[in-house]
Amino acid sequence: MQRTLAIIKPDGVSAGHIGKVIAHIEREGLRIAAMRMEHLTKGEAEGFYDVHRDKPFFPSLVSFMTEGPCVLLVLEGENAIERWRKLMGATDPAKAEPGTIRREMGTNIERNVVHGSDAPGTAAFEVGYFFRGCEIHY
Ligand code: ATP
Ligand code: MG
Repeated sequence: MQRTLAIIKPDGVSAGHIGKVIAHIEREGLRIAAMRMEHLTKGEAEGFYDVHRDKPFFPSLVSFMTEGPCVLLVLEGENAIERWRKLMGATDPAKAEPGTIRREMGTNIERNVVHGSDAPGTAAFEVGYFFRGCEIHY
């Protein structure tokens, strides 16, 4: 059993893709252990993406992630990190496999609809960044 943090980013929420993203998650058999809608503050977005602080795209990424509400989810299951990243597809929607969320719903390398943790260590940090233990079910 593994947990990962998923985010439906502001582009996905504003385009009306919440239901479609959740359908991908449930079809894959990943369990939703926690879920909350939240409009991130600048500080929350900067702290969340701290590993990218020195990248040229960081200011634009923070501005994008704070332009409207996100849906934050904790997903749970066998090999959940890799399975969720496979459903998302490559960072750049143009390079993502057909049938993936980013390929089907993404706009460009920044506005790519969803986030997923990339390893067990980052998943633990990211789940704890947004959820208290008592908010995670199962
Ligand atoms: P995420 O961490 O959001 O799941 P990822 O792991 O596929 O995505 P990262 O390299 O961690 O990709 O980048 C984090 C986010 O920063 C991307 O999802 C995207 O929104 C944005 N981003 C990444 N690379 C670029 C880029 N070259 N130009 C603009 N935005 C970018
Ligand atoms: Mg990443």
